[in-house]
Formats: sequence, C-alpha cells, structure tokens
Amino acid sequence: MNNFDFIILGAGSAGCVLANRLSENPSHKVLLIEAGGKDNYPWIHIPVGYFKTMHNPNTDWCYKTEPDESMNNISIRYPRGKTLGGSSSINGLLYIRGQHRDYDIWRQLGNTGWGWDDVLPYFIKAENQERGKSEYHGVGGPLSVSDQRIHLPLLDEFQNAAEEFGVPKTKDFNTGDNHGCGYFQVTEKDGFRCSTAVGYLNPVKHRNSFLWCNRFSSNIASIRNWKSRKTKKIRN
Ligand SMILES: Cc1cc2nc3c(=O)[nH]c(=O)nc-3n(C[C@H](O)[C@H](O)[C@H](O)COP(=O)(O)OP(=O)(O)OC[C@H]3O[C@@H](n4cnc5c(N)ncnc54)[C@H](O)[C@@H]3O)c2cc1C
Repeated sequence: MNNFDFIILGAGSAGCVLANRLSENPSHKVLLIEAGGKDNYPWIHIPVGYFKTMHNPNTDWCYKTEPDESMNNISIRYPRGKTLGGSSSINGLLYIRGQHRDYDIWRQLGNTGWGWDDVLPYFIKAENQERGKSEYHGVGGPLSVSDQRIHLPLLDEFQNAAEEFGVPKTKDFNTGDNHGCGYFQVTEKDGFRCSTAVGYLNPVKHRNSFLWCNRFSSNIASIRNWKSRKTKKIRN
C-alpha cells in the first residue's frame, strides 16, 4: 500500500478520532503518523500514572515556556503527550464540557455549527456514560466516562462548606452549566484510562484500510499494518 487518500499527522486526541472515522469507509487508505511510540508503558493506563508520564521524555515532549518577565523570569514546564493517544494518554482525565453560553457566543460570532445545541449531539454520540443514557449523556460511544471511585470525607465537607457560601452542589458538570461544587467524572473504563488510542484506535486498527507509522521524528520510521502484522522500515 503506497498511496493514501488521507495522511493524519499525530495520533493524539484529534488524530485517533479522525483515523477511526476516515477508515470506516473500506475504500479509504489512511496513514496515521505518530512521532511518539506505542502506548505500552503501563503507567499510561493507570489513572494516577500521569505522575510517571508527565515530564517523562518517553511520553511527554517536555516543552518549557519562555521565561516571562512578569513572572520573575521563570520558565514553566508545559507537558504535551508524545505517544499513541497524544495528550489524552497523559492528561488529568477530567471530563468537563464547556459552558452552554460560551458555545452560543461562538455561534453568534459567525461559527455556524458551534452553538451548544449543535455540539451536544456530538458529545452524546462520543460518550459511553457509566450512569446511563439521559438528556445530556450517551451510551455505546467510544469515549468511556465514569464516576471517580474515591470519595473522601474531607471533600464531602468541602462541598458542604461551599454550599454554605452559596455555591450549589452538583453531580454533573456536563449539562452546559458548570457552576457548582462536586466530584467531576473521568475518562476511565473499569478503573483504566480511556485515551483516544484506547477508545478510538484500538477497536479499528485491524481495518484493512489502515496503517500506522511511528517514530517519524528520527530518520527511520516504521510502517505497520496491524491486520497483517507486517512492519516495513523506511528511511526519511
Ligand atoms: C498534562 C495534561 C493534563 C490535561 N488534563 C486534561 C483534563 O483533565 N481534561 C481535559 O479535557 N483535557 C486535559 N488536557 C488537555 C487535553 O488532553 C488536550 O487538549 C488534547 O488531548 C489535545 O488534543 P490534540 O489532538 O490537539 O493534541 P494531542 O493529543 O497532544 O496530539 C498531538 C499528537 O501529535 C504528535 N506529534 C507532534 N508532532 C508530530 C510530528 N511532527 N509528526 C507526527 N506526530 C507528531 C504528538 O506526539 C501527539 O501524539 C490535559 C493536557 C495535558 C498535557
């Protein structure tokens, strides 16, 4: 397979979704190029593992901001994922959509299709919500969303204190109204991280139309056909 209809650069959050959708059509030839390696480092999949994957050159680009005069010339570490799943493989797993009003402002500014009512069906379609289907949530989608397993008395007390100060308790930050205090949900399934590589790539990587190329940043890259399990080395 030497010709492609689509070449996707970066198998991060966006790239994995694109690869999944574009390879749905068996006549499409899709090449997905990722500069990082496979997501086989166990800490990627354990939610608290971001302590091991952030600032780790095997999974993080380890960027730093330019020193800033207004911050006493300090430079700040700026993690970005460098593996299959990209930043969704090293992020904090919080599943929180934006505010209803912000999307509507985008639409009013001329961005057709970006109002809350426009994007909500896509949020619902993407989701595999542990709490089940509802007005704001979907089941059976590629992205698994779960409740956090740990509840701490101190955090419960914090919510009580917030309520006393007029901040209402909330059980759902994804209805378009984020005002409130509560436990947020996480992109996890059965206690493991649901990165976009897990949710969108793994289920479809056997497709005939689909090849994955990694370590593109060195002068040798490998192109792998998951279905035939054949890997071809190429030189830049
Ligand atoms: C530490 C951290 C915590 C976060 N916490 C949360 C959170 O809790 N909740 C939330 O919703 N969001 C969170 N985010 C943000 C969210 O993860 C990102 O906004 C999202 O993953 C970005 O998706 P993307 O597709 O734009 O980029 P990425 O997912 O970063 O994908 C880019 C991909 O391109 C690859 N790439 C780069 N250059 C090349 C090249 N030249 N050739 C080939 N491949 C290349 C990279 O290796 C990477 O895999 C967090 C992000 C980080 C880094």
